[in-house]
Amino acid sequence: SKSDVGFIGIGNMGTRMASNLIKKGRSVKVFDASKAAAQTVTGAQVCSSPKEAATDVDFVITMLPDGDIVKKVLTSDDGILKGIGKNTLLVDSSTINPITAQELHKIAENAGIQFLDAPVSGGVTGAAAATLTFMIGGNQDIGKKVEPYLMQMGGRIMHCGGPGAGQIAKLCNNLILGISMIGIAEGMNLGAKMGLDVKTLAKVVNTSTGRCWSSDTYNPVPGIMENVPAADNYNGGFQTQLIAKDLALASNVAVSCGAPIPLGSAAHQIYRTMAAYGLGNKDFSSVYKFLQGQ
Ligand code: NAD
Repeated sequence: SKSDVGFIGIGNMGTRMASNLIKKGRSVKVFDASKAAAQTVTGAQVCSSPKEAATDVDFVITMLPDGDIVKKVLTSDDGILKGIGKNTLLVDSSTINPITAQELHKIAENAGIQFLDAPVSGGVTGAAAATLTFMIGGNQDIGKKVEPYLMQMGGRIMHCGGPGAGQIAKLCNNLILGISMIGIAEGMNLGAKMGLDVKTLAKVVNTSTGRCWSSDTYNPVPGIMENVPAADNYNGGFQTQLIAKDLALASNVAVSCGAPIPLGSAAHQIYRTMAAYGLGNKDFSSVYKFLQGQ
């Protein structure tokens, strides 16, 4: 039956984004490889394939782990392209390799489908509050058409340039984020080991030059903030394995264009080591716990 939106990838981000579309009056069809995940969106119609979720809708959005999966969900036998109509708008909000994103632009263009790369920043808190920033790459006219949908899940849309430009902006942001989270965790752990009260130290940092999102919105130290993964044993949020994936993409891109990223490389290896120690599915702010040696 006809719906407004097909939403594919109902994980930590997708469940909150799809729920906001429903709260704002959209009818939404959902698909996830895990049926239990798909069922977390109250009021959505659960589909049995990406094809079914993309059929008879005005707007399709994917929020999946990586580019290979997005490509598969787009092009497989029961994939999006098998169901999507010519007037339906298609957006990929996953964080993926910009080269893969450009490939997806070509595939969509050849199929006559209007497509944009539109990764987001803001984390699960931004997804829940519908304050995400969308970084768009591709045709600006399509950008205008998708705005009414994106603005029900986010607070800002930035047009970054042509195909893949949204993904490039996102990788640069996450390179910075991956480094800054470790910086905050190091400083907080040093203070704690030297006997400072961590709440006092967080207040100092958040009114001083060390302040950043990792300190004032997503502090990695338990007991400082509510509604962050640190308050819930680092569950939910942004998995260590996903920031490691983003830093791997940033490394590849950096090598290809000759930009040195010494701290990005170090951060990448730290998150990979955390994953090897069993923290891959935990939120990346668990780097604090890792530095504590627990
Ligand atoms: P997640 O792992 O929680 O969710 C991904 C979902 O995709 C899972 O429910 C999984 O079952 C589903 N999936 C995997 N393969 C599939 C397939 N073949 N078909 C259908 N569904 C499939 O990840 P997330 O945290 O929601 O992140 C999604 C994307 O958004 C990633 O690219 C991530 O890098 C990016 N991102 C995450 C955050 C964050 O804070 N969590 C913030 C910005 C961007």
